[in-house]
Amino acid sequence: MNHALSLIHEENISINALKVVNRLTEHGYQAYLVGGCIRDLILGKVPKDFDVATDAHPEDIRDLFRNSRIVGKRFKIVHVRFGREIVEVTTFRAPHDEQYEDNHSESGMTLVDNIYGTFEEDVFRRDFAMNAVYYQPEAHEITDLAGGVEDIQLKRIRTIGDPEARFREDPVRMLRAIRFEAKLEFHISDELHNTIRSLGHLIQDVSAARLFEEVLKLFMSGHGAAALDSMVNHELYGWMFPDSKRSMEEHPAEELVRLALTSTDSRIAEGKPVTPAFIYAAMLWFPFVDERDQLQKEGRISHVAASHEAANNILSKQQLFTSIPRRFSGTIRDIWFLQFRLPNRATKKPDTLMEHKRFRAAYDFLLIREAAGEETGNLGDWWTEYQEAAPERRPEMKQSTGKRRKRKRKRKPRSPNAMIDTPTPT
Ligand code: ATP
Ligand code: MG
Repeated sequence: MNHALSLIHEENISINALKVVNRLTEHGYQAYLVGGCIRDLILGKVPKDFDVATDAHPEDIRDLFRNSRIVGKRFKIVHVRFGREIVEVTTFRAPHDEQYEDNHSESGMTLVDNIYGTFEEDVFRRDFAMNAVYYQPEAHEITDLAGGVEDIQLKRIRTIGDPEARFREDPVRMLRAIRFEAKLEFHISDELHNTIRSLGHLIQDVSAARLFEEVLKLFMSGHGAAALDSMVNHELYGWMFPDSKRSMEEHPAEELVRLALTSTDSRIAEGKPVTPAFIYAAMLWFPFVDERDQLQKEGRISHVAASHEAANNILSKQQLFTSIPRRFSGTIRDIWFLQFRLPNRATKKPDTLMEHKRFRAAYDFLLIREAAGEETGNLGDWWTEYQEAAPERRPEMKQSTGKRRKRKRKRKPRSPNAMIDTPTPT
């Protein structure tokens, strides 16, 4: 143990987290702040949330805090709520193979009992040394049995124990390493990189629901573009998004995904709303378009039917890897199908389209498709102008598209690169 007042920026500790720790210690329990919050406090950042580790059992914790509830089936954690802030309180755990199994098991098997541990066991069950630094705020005392403080100072990501064993035990740790590399700009050593490369396939053993949660953390926390780079560099991307990965070989697909993520990152920075549907739409756009083309080539099937079937096929294949909750898959479809309606610039169509609740997302999507290099005949500019134009100028713009829809009704075979084709009634 060491006193390390200068290391921890105490002014950034949440009052509520302090209350939780103090209350537990008043009742004779050990209690520490640990994990990401300590990392951030040492880095001089304001932690986004606080985790508490204690020797109190979940039911005891529950009894101490009126505003608390037990969550998690396999491994119980207590959430203590203060308005919008939640302090997560976890009982010391012993190492156990199944402890990081997600709570999404639907099999109805007998759930493994909680296996509590000692303080030391709790230290060594953690993933990386930098996440195993404990802080006792009343004593102002840091306990660092795994050498995490040094790692934080050197921005080093190091597993506790043998990397291969720890990644086999829980493959999600590889994604966590990537998230910390992207978010904190910490360093993954060549050795760790090689281990991740050779074990990437284990990601397939993780449940789709848990992987979706990780996708949100990777791509929706303001560092999505960096997370993509990191996933590609360490060769994990393809294990989570195989169709998307494949499409990167023949389309500007990687660029499209990167643009979707950059746009999401800046929206987060500006406090604007974001949705994972936009990112999924980008990751699966080319697989969707290819599938749609293929279906049309194979049979006499309308554009509309082909679009619907292709969307179903591609989304359900992706769901084998990462689940996509229904509220998002609907939006993904909307964004895709609107791409085929945006070229439709005659008569009343533009105004009707602008009223669609996904118009804005679809328009943004069109812009990133163009920026990624897809040829759309400057459709994005047209829509930008149309939206900016005074309402009385709009009718003349519709005519100025120069295209006569009626003549275009006959379907021509599509060249593989022409993503926008004849307007499709949907
Ligand atoms: P963030 O800043 O993103 O919250 P974090 O490190 O706090 O990062 P959490 O998911 O909040 O991440 O987890 C809290 C702590 O629990 C971690 O710091 C780590 O000590 C431990 N932990 C979480 N997931 C795992 C895991 N899969 N294996 C081992 N330890 C884990
Ligand atoms: Mg945390």
